Amino acid sequence: MRAAVTLAPNEIAVSSVDDPVPGLTEVIVRPELVGVCGSDIHFYAGHLGIAPKGRSLYPRIQGHEFSGTVESVGADAAGKVEIGARVSVWPLASCGGCYPCRVGRRSVCDNFELIGIHTDGALAEFVRVPVDQTFFVGDLPAALGAFVEPMAVAVHGVARGEVTSGEQVVVLGGGPIGQAVSLAAQARGARVLLVEPIAARRELADALGAEITLDNATSDVVSNVREWTSGDGAPVVIDAAGVPEAIRTAVDLVASAGRLVVVGISDQQVLLRIGPFTAKEFDIRGSSCHEREDFEAAIRLVSDARDRLGPQLRTEFTLDETAEALEFAHAHPEAAMKVMVRVSG
Ligand SMILES: [Zn+2]
Ligand SMILES: [Zn+2]
Repeated sequence: MRAAVTLAPNEIAVSSVDDPVPGLTEVIVRPELVGVCGSDIHFYAGHLGIAPKGRSLYPRIQGHEFSGTVESVGADAAGKVEIGARVSVWPLASCGGCYPCRVGRRSVCDNFELIGIHTDGALAEFVRVPVDQTFFVGDLPAALGAFVEPMAVAVHGVARGEVTSGEQVVVLGGGPIGQAVSLAAQARGARVLLVEPIAARRELADALGAEITLDNATSDVVSNVREWTSGDGAPVVIDAAGVPEAIRTAVDLVASAGRLVVVGISDQQVLLRIGPFTAKEFDIRGSSCHEREDFEAAIRLVSDARDRLGPQLRTEFTLDETAEALEFAHAHPEAAMKVMVRVSG
């Protein structure tokens, strides 16, 4: 089959490799569109190259945001999914034995493996996946099928924030995850104020139902949020920006007794005053990846939002242009909600 193989940092070769063969409980899926994720860009740049146990992750076929058609089925997977079915793939496998797994928090399994990072992913004509990680999506358009995974990240974030109906939620960052968080919070009945410096992303957030959008470069976010919440501060703040300034702002924005959820990934440091932790008694919670229920909920949510989401969704590249797609996504955060690579269909 043809595949885009990341051989080493900043080096992708689109070439012929052996077709994958399904194990007993696995299936082979032919991907349609594959979303480019921030983590893909980090992996390509060489920032994620060593797995926790010290083994190199290269060479690797990347791609973990996708739907596709089931092409073949392992012996013990027969009956669980039909050949020809269209599925979206939950890319996270967990060990079941570590502390987070034992307490029902598989999204932070100590030994988790993500398709497209720890095992070969969807930037190829065929990808091998465990049948238990496939979810039937029927006639959901391919671009929306590829958006289920980032939506699941957002669903998990609002679940970590215990967002409830009518609550006022501030979302920091209007990239794909921030937009998905806004939708996921609205789906729970919340009102959303989204903060983002890039105008095109604010316009997208408006189109996707945010009540207010603010440019943090030109407006005083803290006083605007105070006014919006009648002086309380925000009961829930969700960071999808992953920069120190956003975390500092979040601590200022969050109401006393509120919740602050960090979804944005970063290896940067942030300096915070200790005072607000005691003075405000807010909870600060991390959020990583997703659980099986988040993925199932994300399929419903993406499907429900298909009319609003469909036209906004993508800039498209071919499999041969995979390196260009990654570089474009890195260089043009404002260009589209999602950069996608078309593998088939
Ligand atoms: Zn992703
Ligand atoms: Zn585990």
